[in-house]
Amino acid sequence: MESSERKETRKITIGHLYPDLLNLYGDRGNIACLMQRCIWRGIEAETVEFELNDQIDFSKLDIVLLGGGSDREQMIVCQKLKDIQEDFKNYVEDNGVVIAVCGGYQLLGKYYRTEEGLIEGLDLVDLYTEQGEGRLIGNIVLQSELFETPVVGFENHGGRTFIGQNRPFGKVLHGYGNEENSGCEGVVYKNVIGTYLHGPLLPKNPQVCDWLIARALERKYGFSELEALDDSQELEANRYIYERFVK
Ligand code: GLN
Repeated sequence: MESSERKETRKITIGHLYPDLLNLYGDRGNIACLMQRCIWRGIEAETVEFELNDQIDFSKLDIVLLGGGSDREQMIVCQKLKDIQEDFKNYVEDNGVVIAVCGGYQLLGKYYRTEEGLIEGLDLVDLYTEQGEGRLIGNIVLQSELFETPVVGFENHGGRTFIGQNRPFGKVLHGYGNEENSGCEGVVYKNVIGTYLHGPLLPKNPQVCDWLIARALERKYGFSELEALDDSQELEANRYIYERFVK
């Protein structure tokens, strides 16, 4: 097949899980970024939003986004997770692409223990979270093995996440990450990224956005070439943050 023909056939469907509950700090911006970076390259993109009682057919999804939420909202969401656990697990094991942010990241694991009680997670990745003393808040900069460019963002979480032998998303250059002492942030498992980096994670870090799109294309079509886009402004902002907080 010619590469121009291959491009025409490409379409990505993003599943946004529970945006009415898991939506702290505007995680919707990450959806807009995924969509737009596909569209700029002539890749068709659509987003399907799911509410708590909706049926989710994971076989129709190429990327799943689980956003951040307060403990209260996580508690509501967790009541329903048992219904989707098996299908979600199969999707992940079949290399389905997932980006899970903060509260969503915690829900990937076995549980998140808070003072108010235990929030049972999806158990998709072998990790768990314990509420600690005080919240870990501030700007954060990481170096991930997946990219040359550092990943920059903002974190605000009471939970401390323990990932055991799993691969972290990155090494913390500035900020806290999974917990105060590990020096690690987030997790990467198959095509799943879990991270505490909030809000405009993908607009600030187009390399992360493109990694997700490329993994989704690879899984669906067997090839992952992406046209380069002009990311000069994002890279300039990234450099500014790196120099301000790390150098
Ligand atoms: N409720 C969780 C915590 O405080 C996650 C918060 C969030 O998504 N910002 O740790």
